[in-house]
Amino acid sequence: MTETIRDAVVVGGGLAGLAAAVAVANAGLETVHLVPKGPPDRRTSALMLPSVDYLKSAGLVPDPAAIGQPLTQIRIVDATSRLIRAPETLFDSAEAGLTAFGWNFPNVKLAEAFEAARVGLPNLTTVETTLDDLELGGDHAVLKLGNGETLAAALVVGADGKKSRVRESAGFRARENGFTQAALVCDLGLERSIGGASVEFHYPNGPFTLVPAGGNRANLVWIDNRDVLKSAQEGGKEKLAALFREKSQRLFGSVELLTPAHMFLLSSLTVDVAGKDGVVLVGEAAHAFPPIGAQGLNLSLRDVADLADALAATDTSKPGFARALSEDYARRRAADLARTGTVVDTLFRSLLADFLPAQALRAGGLWALKLVPPLRKAALGVGMGAR
Ligand SMILES: Cc1cc2nc3c(=O)[nH]c(=O)nc-3n(C[C@H](O)[C@H](O)[C@H](O)COP(=O)(O)OP(=O)(O)OC[C@H]3O[C@@H](n4cnc5c(N)ncnc54)[C@H](O)[C@@H]3O)c2cc1C
Repeated sequence: MTETIRDAVVVGGGLAGLAAAVAVANAGLETVHLVPKGPPDRRTSALMLPSVDYLKSAGLVPDPAAIGQPLTQIRIVDATSRLIRAPETLFDSAEAGLTAFGWNFPNVKLAEAFEAARVGLPNLTTVETTLDDLELGGDHAVLKLGNGETLAAALVVGADGKKSRVRESAGFRARENGFTQAALVCDLGLERSIGGASVEFHYPNGPFTLVPAGGNRANLVWIDNRDVLKSAQEGGKEKLAALFREKSQRLFGSVELLTPAHMFLLSSLTVDVAGKDGVVLVGEAAHAFPPIGAQGLNLSLRDVADLADALAATDTSKPGFARALSEDYARRRAADLARTGTVVDTLFRSLLADFLPAQALRAGGLWALKLVPPLRKAALGVGMGAR
């Protein structure tokens, strides 16, 4: 039985959902947020300056220095033994006239900060349950919840991740490609600090990246074939530490594991449109990539920023407002989603290519980036999500 029609329901309690719920409630809509219970997100996120600026202006992370570490350099080391190897390349934020490219945050700290931003929003209610089914009607959708209840809402925000029930039930067309690679993440203690540099060792099956986590700590994101990661993980803590020391070319001395290693399967996902029929998709419900060039959450925050802009441009008191809003949102997101997807996909494939011309192109590209200032500037702009 459905009684009241709510203004909006946000589905999913990951970082995209938490940020979107605050944006929708801040626009004055009576908002219900569906957040199923789940384990804490042990990943970390490198967020570029425009994303951090958005977090500050939206009141989500008022003081980045309180929970994150600045990223001042990006160092790329070609660790392949390929015929054509790329030069070591160092990007420094100072050459772009910036004190940092961005900040690296533990996802649990971001989630706590986003939760804190909800305080003082009486029009935002959290319900600890899943969405089981969604039916689209004239001016509203009917949502069947895991707790047995039914809700009706004008606007539905799908922030329910890669396997989005919202996306599927609302009939969005999506394409997903699975990769044989996965990502292994954990926190490391290093004998010698990496300072503010994110250091990427590019191996044939994917990068081994150390991201600054403060002092002598670093967050590891190691991309390799699933079976390689699985057997490394099964070898235990000591063997992993020894392996990581070798993979980081002993540049930072001995390595200690500070947290257990977690594995994430990788895939890419794109949708034809990010909004229609009163439903909008944000975060991995709309796009997923391998964690190359730190784009996933950066792109998700641009989704939320565009959703906030679309809400500000809409008269939400009008019946049927959600349909026009979802179409406006889709228009605002189209170019960014297409461009970022293409850039990350090309980058990922070029990192893995064994094809000689592709190796030459990649090595040539890195030489060009190393030597040609305007190209470096353009590359930095793309990496930082310049529009
Ligand atoms: C190893 C790794 C490292 C990364 N590093 C970076 C980085 O440095 N920088 C960066 O920008 N990005 C990075 N990313 C990407 C980033 O982590 C993701 O893009 C982002 O966390 C996605 O957030 P999300 O909220 O969309 O999805 P999720 O975190 O997957 O959240 C989805 C939520 O929906 C909920 N849900 C699912 N089904 C239902 C349902 N039926 N009903 C209700 N709720 C449901 C889930 O419980 C969950 O709460 C990385 C990704 C990986 C794998």
